[in-house]
Parts: sequence; structure tokens; C-alpha cells
Amino acid sequence: MVTKAEKAEIEGDEAPLHRSCATGEVNERLLRTVEGYAESRAEIENRTARVLDAQVALRTGCTEIPVVVHVVYRNSTENISDAQIASQISALNADFRATNADKASTPTAFQGLIGDARVTFKLATTDPDGKPTDGITRTSTTTTPFNSDTDNVKSAATGGADAWPSDRYLNLWVCGNLRSGSGQSLLGYAQFPGGPTATDGVVVIHSGFGTTGTAAAPFNLGRTTTHEIGHWLNLRHIWGDDGTGCSGSDFVADTPNQGGPNYGAPTFPSSSCSNGPNGDLFMNYMDYTDDPAMVMFTAGQVDRMQAALDGPRSSIGISGPCAGKPIKEFVKDLPKDLPKDVIKDLPKDGIKDFQKDGAKDIPKDVAKDIPKDGVKDFPKDGVKDFQKDGVKDKPKDVVKDSPKDLIKDAPKDGVKDAPKDGVKDRPKDFIKDRPKDLIKDRPKDLAKDSPKDFGKDMLKDFAKDPVKDPRKEGVKDLQKDAIKDTPKDGIKEFVDDIPKQLRDPVKELGGEIGPIDPGPLINPAIGGGGFGGAFGGGATPFVIGGRDETEYGAGQPEEVSPLAVIAEQLGGMLAEYSSAAAAGQLSPADVARWQQLASVYAQIIALLGWAGRRQARRGGEHPPSRGGPRQARARDAGEGAMILIVSFPDNAHVERVLEHLDRPTVVFDIADFPHRTRLDARFGASADRISFTPHGQAEIPLEQIGAVWYRRVRPIGLDPALTDSTSRLFAWSESTEALTGLWHAMECFWMNPPAGDEAGQRKIRQLQVARAVGLAVPETLITNDPAAALEFISARDEGGVIRKAFRNIAEAPRSTAVVTADDRARLDDVRYAPVTFQEFVPADLDLRVIVVEHEIFAAAILSEPEYRTDYRPGIGSAKFSTYELPDEVAAALLALHDRLGLAYGASDFRVTPDGEHVFLEVNPGGEYLFASDRTGQPVPQAIAACLSRHDREHGE
Ligand SMILES: [Zn+2]
Repeated sequence: MVTKAEKAEIEGDEAPLHRSCATGEVNERLLRTVEGYAESRAEIENRTARVLDAQVALRTGCTEIPVVVHVVYRNSTENISDAQIASQISALNADFRATNADKASTPTAFQGLIGDARVTFKLATTDPDGKPTDGITRTSTTTTPFNSDTDNVKSAATGGADAWPSDRYLNLWVCGNLRSGSGQSLLGYAQFPGGPTATDGVVVIHSGFGTTGTAAAPFNLGRTTTHEIGHWLNLRHIWGDDGTGCSGSDFVADTPNQGGPNYGAPTFPSSSCSNGPNGDLFMNYMDYTDDPAMVMFTAGQVDRMQAALDGPRSSIGISGPCAGKPIKEFVKDLPKDLPKDVIKDLPKDGIKDFQKDGAKDIPKDVAKDIPKDGVKDFPKDGVKDFQKDGVKDKPKDVVKDSPKDLIKDAPKDGVKDAPKDGVKDRPKDFIKDRPKDLIKDRPKDLAKDSPKDFGKDMLKDFAKDPVKDPRKEGVKDLQKDAIKDTPKDGIKEFVDDIPKQLRDPVKELGGEIGPIDPGPLINPAIGGGGFGGAFGGGATPFVIGGRDETEYGAGQPEEVSPLAVIAEQLGGMLAEYSSAAAAGQLSPADVARWQQLASVYAQIIALLGWAGRRQARRGGEHPPSRGGPRQARARDAGEGAMILIVSFPDNAHVERVLEHLDRPTVVFDIADFPHRTRLDARFGASADRISFTPHGQAEIPLEQIGAVWYRRVRPIGLDPALTDSTSRLFAWSESTEALTGLWHAMECFWMNPPAGDEAGQRKIRQLQVARAVGLAVPETLITNDPAAALEFISARDEGGVIRKAFRNIAEAPRSTAVVTADDRARLDDVRYAPVTFQEFVPADLDLRVIVVEHEIFAAAILSEPEYRTDYRPGIGSAKFSTYELPDEVAAALLALHDRLGLAYGASDFRVTPDGEHVFLEVNPGGEYLFASDRTGQPVPQAIAACLSRHDREHGE
């Protein structure tokens, strides 16, 4: 051990006499100099408050964070040993799991506040290039001193070491002679979440790092690094960084108000700000006391750190069960999986009722896992901490005070000083005019259009006597009418275009499907011969499919479900058959083909609607028994969980998420099935095993898949050797059925759960749920009754109503447009297919709001004036900025996701000149890049983190 004085003598630098940390100064510098940082910080704080307020379930297990230690040294002393680095990691793992023995020194009055941060640290084993590493870099330097104001230790160009990607690694720099901007000697400093990635991480002086080697008392227990990582996970100094006043807040409810920092090793009680009798929580890691004197985080600080791990830090680390989890933690983890009423009763009725009620409701394997002696310990550790940790008793102060405090404190933290042009592009009244009571007032105005009435009117008109009133008949007859009565219009054109559409997917497959001659699909007499003719010459009629979004051009969001488009197309063809049959025009061969087509159609509908048979559950479906035999076997075999992405590799949205996934992942392209992907499903006494083997990859047993991201699939791909049309049809039908079975068999987290994807994309259902959860929506009429349409339009000003299609199909684009006099003149056409009429919502601002599980990323889109009816055509010239949804709107949107069963969605809102947030629609497969790339919001990281988290949890 080297003493402080010896060290200073040997190295010509000095360690501070008492703790000093420049994190606050760094924060102020970033607020002054980094564009967007102030907004980013405000957003993180608002989100944190909202998360804690809403008691959104934070991850319950432990998060292991990969660490890289950059040793930057001038001499052999500063080039600290691997052992000293290892001692720091050990110290962190004790401090962040509250297993440090010295926590016992916490005064009795504060013992109950101690929280297990559920974070562990591990030196990285893979470097950014994917190569093995010991998680340590060593850089010889002549630079001195290193300065928190220039961050010179964080760049090779200034004699330091470059950061590793901060969305995957926690960077720890260790150096000598560390100074603040004013030249003060420092122990360390950190960067809060939300700052520049190149400087993200923690810097600690070598003499304050670890517990051995050059670590010098009184900073030789590794607590400097614990303190700085606390900042890195969004903790503030416990006294609130207001000097020694009593008005600053650390935004943590269970830490007593405190005047200023405590140094050295105070004795209990040590009071300030009238916080007696217990006084300051000076033994907290976020005070300025010496290493031996700081021994604990509080539960409130843990919540804040966990909110950071689920928010701005969500891309880093992998979460899983806490090793050696004490019963207390086990009980705390329970609520997520238990039925609600068990949770509710648990704290109140205690262990007795817990056991009584629990036996009934707790999945068997969970009950089995409760350690035998757990029951005995439960009352002591469990109930008290359970309540404290807050299912019910989440401190009210956080909720109530946070937003207020934030606003009040903001100028102090430098929002005032933030670069003017960083905020310039925001609409002038953006933040100021976001009155909270708007939403509250809304229901009053719309009382007469309450969800009940809305649904009643709409559904009644849809369903009422469909057969008696020809105007209200279903799609089939509607199309029949269309064909007979309006040969040149609408539906007829649509039907005529089907062969072309069915050819296009084949082209997209790069000619892999060779020319075939299926023969006339239908009697050429129908449709003037165009139908049969269109199928001649080599197209294959039965490739289901769609298109990838790139076809629509950059920046043009496209939400079409390929399967649904095909279903519509096939539905149209079936209508033709029906019509031809009624006219006596079908040959026996035509009838046979009709039946085949109907069978395919039924399967697509089943595929689209399969979800209805499964329980839609927010955040995905978990197997009823996580410890089932198959999972157990996988673990025994040493196999881990992996993420399955059902999409195609050259898809930008997928590529971007792949960059951030650090779990085993496989991308499965449906176009490779069945001709290049093997499927095996074996059942029976000898084997129960389902697996598939994607093209060029290893076999994947189904139980290995812990999370599925199902996004924008391509058509299935039949072997080109199969040329007979009937054979292809049969192969297609069987392959589709097998694939559907495979999806059903994957019992794990889905983004989105198929039920959510199916129901969530239906606009009528969206509007119904949106109203039910309290979102404002435009006055809307969806009808195929011309009279109702006329009434709706007539009741409003000229130009005050827009019309739109549920879905825009390439062959019959129907852009959203204002209803004109011409439209009014042909309103009778409404009877051919329902049309959506909506009151035009004037707005200066459009919002694209991405929800990834519980996280919200809202982007404001300020268009040039000519594009303010529809921002999409003018998206290139629009200005994007991050946006904070009002709390009520955010909560309602999350509720909408919850009700629809969506883990992911992209919603469109308009913000009216009055500041009202009007919900237009949610797109379960909607694009995020066009917005997140322009705002810098970490959406791909959030998706990756979400998938990783669930995949990890699946392996529990
Ligand atoms: Zn600090």
C-alpha cells in the first residue's frame, strides 16, 4: 500500500484531501456546449419521473454490464495491475448487490433504506470488433494533467484512450494527475446519461481505483468508482448540488434533505436542513465521505438507476436472474408473474394469505422454486421490503415533486444557458403551450361521441341487415355489384390488376422462380379475357407476398401488411368466381380452381387471424411453465436462448437493430422457406423436438428461441423446380400451414405478439380503443352508406373533411385528401367499399411516436407550410426534433398499446394550434428510422435491449 503522501512525492501529483467529483461541472459544461443535451437531460428526467410515477414494472432481475478499463499511464506505477482492476470489479459487484459486509455499519435508523441495485459488472470478453479481450486497454502517455473540462483522457488524439461504443460498454478510464477545470485535484468524474457517446463513461484516479496496488487510503475501497457509476446511472449527489442550501433535490424520495456534502467519516446523527433526528444519510455512496464511511444505496436510488437501465442505458448490458438471489429479492420479483389480485393482497395479508391464495394461482414451478427456508425468512425480509420497494407505497413525493422540481431547477442546471439554436427549430410555443388540462377538457367536448355511441353507430351501420339492404352487403357482394354496375370504376380496376400484382412478387424474388405455365386460372370468358391472358406467359399465381418498404422510396412510410394485401386480392378473385358461377360461366376445371383458391384464401385469413386463438398479452406471451421439460433440456445441454428475427437481412430497420444486439441472433427470411430452410417436428415416445434450419445456418431447436421480432416478412419461396401450378398451390398451402404451426409453437416474447399485430393494425379497433383510453381522435365516420357520408360532410365546412383509405395499395393508390365538390357528387360510390371520413385536424406539428414496450420516443415534425395537410410528401424539408408527450397522452398511449397487445408501434399524432394532441393511428409494423435518424433517439437500441432482455429472461 502506498500512502497518499508517498504517492504524491513519487509521481509529482497529488490526491485530494477529501472526496471531489467533477460530474456536476461536466454536466454544466455539456449543458452549455452540446446541442440537444439539455433537452436530452430533461427528457430523461421526465421519463424517469413518469416511470416511477406510473410504477411501470422495471426489470426485476440483475443487469450485467460489460466494462472496459482504459489504463492511461505515464509510468509503471500508474500502469496499474490486472489484480488492482479485478479488485475494483469485485468491489463494484459487492456494492451494487448490497453484499458489502460494511453495510452493517449503517445506523439502525437507516438500515431499512438499503437497496440492492441489482447491477453487476464484468470485464468485457469481446472487443468492439468481436475479438476476444480481457477488457483492459493500456495506453502510455506523456499528457499531464488530465482534465475534466477537456475530457483529454477520453481521446487518443489528446494522449488518452478512445471510448469503446458506449451503448455496449461502460468505459472506465484510470489515470494519474486528474484535475477539474479550475485545476483542483480530483478523484473522479462521470457523465450522466444523455451526453455525447465519445465521452460517455467514468474517469477515476488510479490511487482511488480498486482495493489493492496503488489504491491509497482513505480512498482504497473502490467507492470512488461506485459513486461515479452511480452518476453514470443518473444518480445525483445526495445533497442536490445546490451548494449548502436546502432547496436542491437528488430526485430521490427516500434520501433525507441535506444541506451540503459531508466529508471524511461523520458520526451519526449528523443533521442539516432540520432533518433530525436521524440527519444526513452521510453513509450513502452519493455523498462525499471517505471510502470506509460510504456503504449503501437506497431503494429509491435503485429505482432511479433501474429507470436509467430501462431508459437511456437500456442498450447496455444483459439482464437475467440475480445469481444467489436472496428470498427478499425473490419475493420482490414475484409480482410481475403473479395474478393481480395476489399482488394486491400480498402486502396486506402477509405470509399466511400469500400461501393460501398463492397455492392456487402461482404456477407450479414457481411454487416449487421457493426455497424451503424462504417461508421462515419471508416475514422478516420480505413483507417489509416488499412494501417498501413499492408495489403500493411508491413514494408520493417523487411523483408529485419531480416535474415541479425539474422545471424549477432547470435554469440552475443550465437550460437557460443552452445554445439558442439548439432550441430555435422547435415551434415557438412548443413547451410553454402544452397545457396539462387540455386532455382533461377533451372528454367533456366529446361526451356525446363517447366510445359507446361511436362504436354503436358505426358497427350498427356496418352490420345491420347486410342481406336485406344491398347497400350494406359484405365485400363479396359489394364487389359483385361493382363488377356489374361500374365496369370502369374502383373495384373493377382493382380486380383487373390482381394478376399484375401477383406477378410482381415473383420479380422481386430475383427470378428464382422460373417460368411456368399454369394454364388459365379462370375461364377467359370472364372479364373480357384480360384475366386469363394476364396469367399466361410464365407467372406463378400463388406466391403470397408483398414488398419491402424500399420499393416505396426513401422516407415514405409504408404500413401495408403483405399478407393482408394478398388476402384482399384473393378475396377479389373469389368474388369474380362467385360472380361467374352465378352467371353459369364456370367450367368444372374452373370450379376446381375456385375451390383451391378458396382453400388458400382461408389459410391466409387463418394466418392473419390466428392470433385470435392465442391470448394477447402485453409484452408478449410467456410460456405458462418456464421451467418446462424442453427448456430444462436446453439448459442441461448448455444451450442458451437466442433471438429470432423474422424479416430479411437487407432491411435497414433490421440491420440497425442487429448492430445493438449482443445476444445470439438469427434472421430468418421466409423467402427461404421451404426450398432452402429445413423444418423438422418430431413427436412421440422417442422424441419431442421441433427445429428449423435456415439457409446456411445451424439447426435451431425451438426451445432456444427466447424472443421473436416479426417484422415485414417476404413471400414464402417455393422451389423453382416445382412448375405445375396445382403442385405449387398445394406446396404453398402446406408450407404455409407448417410455418403457421411453427409460429404457434414458439412460446416466448414476441414483438409484436401475432394477436397484437393482427388486431392492432385494424383502424376501427384502434379508434375504438383510443377513445376508451382517453386519447383525442378526429371526428370520424367510417361507412359504406352514402347517406351517412353526405350527412357527415354536409354538417361541416367546405374543405373541413378528409377521406382516406384503410390501406394504400400500389395498384390503386388513394391518397388521403380533402373531400372536394367532385367527391360529393359521386358519394354514391361509397356503397362499393367503406370509406373513412374524418374532420380535418389543422396542425402546425405532426408527431411520430414510437413505443418500444414501456419506452416512448416522440419526434415532432415541423413541415414547410405547403405540407401541413400531409407531412409525408414534404418529409425531406421538414424539421425533426425530440418531443415530450404530455403525461396524460403518454399514459393513454401506453394504455392503448396495452389494450391492443402491442410491444411495438409507431403512432401518428397531430398537435393542434391549441396544443391538443390528436391521435390519428398506430402502425404495429411502422417505420422508426426516418424519425429516429433525424432526432438521434435511440430507437434501434431500445428494440435491441427489449429483445435481449426478454431473451435473457426466457433463459431463466
Ligand atoms: Zn459525484
